[in-house]
Amino acid sequence: MTDRSDVVIVGGGVVGLCAAYALRRHGIAVTVLDAGRPGAGASHGNAGWIVPSLSGPVPAPGLTRTSLRWMLRPASPLYIQPRADPAFGRWLLAFWRRCNARDHRAGLEATAALNRRTMALFDAYRADGIAFEQHADGLVFAYLDPAELERDLRGLELLQPFGYEATPLDGEAMRELEPALAGTVVGGYHLPQERHVRPDSFVAGLVARLTVDGVDLRGDTPVIGIEHRGDRVTAVETPAGRIAADAVVVCAGAWTPGVLRLAGVRDFPIEAGKGYSLDYAPPPPLPQPVRRALYLHEVRVAVTPLDGLVRLAGTMELSGVNDRLSPRRLMAIARAGARYLQGWPADPAVATPWTGMRPMTPDGLPAIGRVPGFANLIVASGHAMLGLTLAPATGEAVAELIATGRTPEGLGPFDPARFARRGGRAG
Ligand SMILES: Cc1cc2nc3c(=O)[nH]c(=O)nc-3n(C[C@H](O)[C@H](O)[C@H](O)COP(=O)(O)OP(=O)(O)OC[C@H]3O[C@@H](n4cnc5c(N)ncnc54)[C@H](O)[C@@H]3O)c2cc1C
Repeated sequence: MTDRSDVVIVGGGVVGLCAAYALRRHGIAVTVLDAGRPGAGASHGNAGWIVPSLSGPVPAPGLTRTSLRWMLRPASPLYIQPRADPAFGRWLLAFWRRCNARDHRAGLEATAALNRRTMALFDAYRADGIAFEQHADGLVFAYLDPAELERDLRGLELLQPFGYEATPLDGEAMRELEPALAGTVVGGYHLPQERHVRPDSFVAGLVARLTVDGVDLRGDTPVIGIEHRGDRVTAVETPAGRIAADAVVVCAGAWTPGVLRLAGVRDFPIEAGKGYSLDYAPPPPLPQPVRRALYLHEVRVAVTPLDGLVRLAGTMELSGVNDRLSPRRLMAIARAGARYLQGWPADPAVATPWTGMRPMTPDGLPAIGRVPGFANLIVASGHAMLGLTLAPATGEAVAELIATGRTPEGLGPFDPARFARRGGRAG
C-alpha cells in the first residue's frame, strides 16, 4: 500500500509536532509518524521550562574541569559511561573542544536569536486555541555556595545585550520570594520573564489541534526505510506500507542518527543525554509549598511546580540510547531537593520516576536544515536542554524552509552541513 503526503515528519515529539503545526498553517499536507505514542519521548516528563535566557549551549568554559571532577562521583549531575565506540569518542572530543568562551558566546548569540520570538510564539499558540498549562512567574536560581553565586552573577552580564533581566537576591530576599527555600540557600537571582508549562499538556494540546487541522498523525508507526533517487527522497517505509512525499523532515530526537542512517547518512553526531524526573503528586506537605520554578544550582536540579504536583528533574547521563532508571541517580535528585527546600522528603520512593533522552550535538546547537547531499531531506533535532523552548521557533523555520525553498535568516549556525556528509561519516 502506498499513501502520499506533501511532507512526512519522522518523530512526533514536541519538535515534530510544532513543525507539523507550522507547515499546516502554510496549507501544506502533513503526515507525522511516530514509532510509539506521539509526545512520549523526551517531550513528556521534562522540566517544562520555557527559558530563552538560558540560550547558552551545554559546552561551556570550565565544563571540562567540572565534568572530570563529577565523573569521579557516582551520584553527581553528569555521568559518562565508558563505551568502546569510536563515534562516541569523536563526539566527546568534539564536545570538549567546544568548552571555551569563544564557541560558547557564538552559540549563545545564535540560540538567543532563534529564541527571540519564543514567548510570542507560545502566546500565539494559545491565542490560536491550543490549550496547555502554563505558569508565568519567572525562574529562581538558588545557590548554597557564595563563591559560585558571585561568579555566575558576573556571567549574567552576557545576557544583557539580549534584553534578559536578572535580579540578584541575598538569602533573605530569596526566602521572601520563595518561602519554601531552606536557610542553607545563601542567595541567587530571579529571571522574571521566564515561564514554565506542563510539557505533556503542551504536547496533548498540539496533538488535539493537529487532529482538528487534518494532519495525519500515526502512532506505533516506526519509519524503517527511506527511499531516495539521486538527491531526492521519494518515500518512507513503515511496517504498514510506503508513504510517498515531496519532503521528509527527521525530528526523531535521540533516535535521529538511526533514522538518518536509513538514508545513507552515517554517524550523525547526536548522543542521548539521559535525564530523570520525579513527580511528587500530590506535593509533599511542606511547611511552605513550592510556588515557583527553581534551579538548585550546585546539584543542577530543576524544581517545577505544576497543578497538583511538584516535579524534580536533573542529571545528564551519556550512556547511549536506553530507558533504564538508575536508582542511584533518582536518589541523588530527591536528596538534592532536601538540601534546598524546607522539609523536603529525601526518599524518592514517594515519587513517580521518569526518564527521557535529550538529543545532544557536540557543539550544543540543534541541527536544523537540509541534510547535505539531499534537496528534500530535512533534519530538525539536537535541541539538548532546550527542545521544548525552541520547538515553536524550530517549527516556523522548518515550515519557511519548505514553503519558500529558502533558508530562513539566522539559521546558518544550525546548518546540519557542519556535521553530515552523505555516504561518508559525520562528525
Ligand atoms: C530531564 C529533562 C528535563 C528537560 N527539561 C527541559 C526544559 O525545562 N525545557 C526545555 O526546553 N527542554 C527540556 N528538556 C529537553 C527536551 O525535553 C528535549 O530537547 C525535547 O523534548 C526534544 O524533543 P524532540 O521532539 O526532538 O524529541 P522526542 O520528544 O524524544 O521525540 C522524538 C520522537 O521520535 C520518535 N521516533 C524515534 N525513532 C523513530 C522512527 N524510526 N520512526 C518514527 N518515529 C521515531 C520517538 O518515538 C519520539 O516520540 C529536558 C529533557 C530532559 C530529559
